[in-house]
Amino acid sequence: MSGGGKPRVIALAGNPNVGKSTLFNALTGLHQHTGNWPGKTVSLAEGMFSCQGQSVRIVDLPGTYSLEGKSEDEKIAAAYIGSGSADAIVAVCDGSCLERTLILALQILQRTGRVIVCVNLMDEAESRGIRVDGKRLSHLLGVPVVLVSAARKRGLDTLRKLLANPPEPGTPAFFYEDPLKAAEELAKQCVSSVRVNENWRRVLDRVLVSRRYGIPILLALLLFIVWLTVWGANYPSQLLETLFSRGYVRLKRWSAAWPDWLSGALVEGMYATSARVIAVMLPPMAIFFPLFTILEDVGYLPRMAFLLDRPMCCCGGCGKQALTLCMGLGCNAVGVTGCRIIDSPRERLLAILTNAMVPCNGRFPTLILLGSLFFPRAGAALIVAGSVALGVLGVMATSGILSRTVLRHETSAFFMEMPPFRRPRIGQILARSLLDRTMFIAGRALTVAAPAGVALWILANTRLAQKLAALLDPVGLSLGMNGVILFAFLCSLPANELLIPVILMTISGGGSLAGTAGLSGKALLDAGWTQQMAICTMVFTLFHWPCTTTLMTIYRETGSAKKTAAAFFLPTAVGFGLCGLLHLIFREFGG
Ligand code: GDP
Repeated sequence: MSGGGKPRVIALAGNPNVGKSTLFNALTGLHQHTGNWPGKTVSLAEGMFSCQGQSVRIVDLPGTYSLEGKSEDEKIAAAYIGSGSADAIVAVCDGSCLERTLILALQILQRTGRVIVCVNLMDEAESRGIRVDGKRLSHLLGVPVVLVSAARKRGLDTLRKLLANPPEPGTPAFFYEDPLKAAEELAKQCVSSVRVNENWRRVLDRVLVSRRYGIPILLALLLFIVWLTVWGANYPSQLLETLFSRGYVRLKRWSAAWPDWLSGALVEGMYATSARVIAVMLPPMAIFFPLFTILEDVGYLPRMAFLLDRPMCCCGGCGKQALTLCMGLGCNAVGVTGCRIIDSPRERLLAILTNAMVPCNGRFPTLILLGSLFFPRAGAALIVAGSVALGVLGVMATSGILSRTVLRHETSAFFMEMPPFRRPRIGQILARSLLDRTMFIAGRALTVAAPAGVALWILANTRLAQKLAALLDPVGLSLGMNGVILFAFLCSLPANELLIPVILMTISGGGSLAGTAGLSGKALLDAGWTQQMAICTMVFTLFHWPCTTTLMTIYRETGSAKKTAAAFFLPTAVGFGLCGLLHLIFREFGG
């Protein structure tokens, strides 16, 4: 074992959804993504803490059900445990279903004796009338057993001390060959329970995943969330626009003595572009993400995947692909990495190639803005929710075509454990959705928007942007949009969040956007945008090339330039096809 100043290396292993990430965060103070659904940690995360003068390095392994499986995450976890790189392995189990989650701990114990069994979720177990005899379990296994509740930060001190100085393994009083049978026997000896009325969970589950009500409830929920976002974002958006417009006027006055190019580049370029990003994007994100995170935290996402499993399979996809789509709703790069949970290489490639068709965080604000500008309020929510559904339909249709042609394969069975419904933790939800998501996306957009604002101001003032846009005009118009919009789509390759700011900057000619409209999307109305243009732009927002981060992730995951190119051209081709078709329809039948 390592000693002295060298940090101890401790790996966290366990089934998906036993609270490993929560435990990792509680121990290290970091903010690894947590959520009530299996399969979201598929790579190794590392963090440090120190206890009693000993520093400890924690490695969070991907959640696995077994060490003998074929999937990428199972291989990573098994290889790490087998490599002996860790001073000890913490086998994290779920106290509310110890028997099932103990199987992996027993498999780990068959490979190494340096194990600490950590039974998490004890608060939930207790509320369900379940008691775990940790002392007896420890005696039978010959290794330390700690009962904790990572979310409530209970039992962590004891665990920290053990991790800083892992004891040598003792002699087990229980010998076994088959981990499955052994887990059953151990649970019999160490777990007792009193009956608690859990009917509400069962009824809720039955209704939410039922064939008759499942999909309508899913659509109604989506509609409600989007409606609330569109309705609620209006007021803060107006407030921010007013504030930023005032700031703009002040800055103009203040910089009056500067050379024109300097005040132009900084105030009209950098300030106005950044202000637009905030005014347009921040309010919808600050409403949408907490609502979405509630769904994630209570455990609705796996139910959503379950509901989508059947239609997905009909299209040659698989249920796990539905889960990666849910991850894509947050960030497509995360969705693509999440495809590691899919075992079959062909199904995995299919999921990777189509993931960018579901709108990510960076594209939601565009959809919400265009929806609310060009459609009356209730219609706006319907249109935005419809775009998400259209994205999913796009994935299904493309998967259907690919799986019957170039990527032909047998559809594999989908086994996924349904996590229990959990009470949402409001503090966590706010922190995760506002800090990790809203602020992260806004920050990322700003770091791109501020320098891009200067570059765009130069492009727009030298009229280069307009010239490029004019060059793209014929293609843009044939897609029901125009050259400016297509130019903006190209410019927002580094980050989808840039689309609206680039459009506004280009149509303003790089400056004089002092009015309130200039800092909001309303300038689009003044620029003569029609509802039909907005619809085509929304469709192209769903179906076009993925952003550079996603493309880089796809390259990393597939290791192939060809497949990355396919991921670039596939959604783009769908976008060109759909927008071209819409344009023809509008020309024939539209006003
Ligand atoms: P992982 O897949 O093992 O990394 O699991 P997460 O850390 O993402 O946790 C899964 C779900 O369990 C999340 O909704 C957490 O909020 C919840 N959770 C984790 N630990 C506890 C706990 O000690 N008590 C309760 N009540 N919930 C917990």
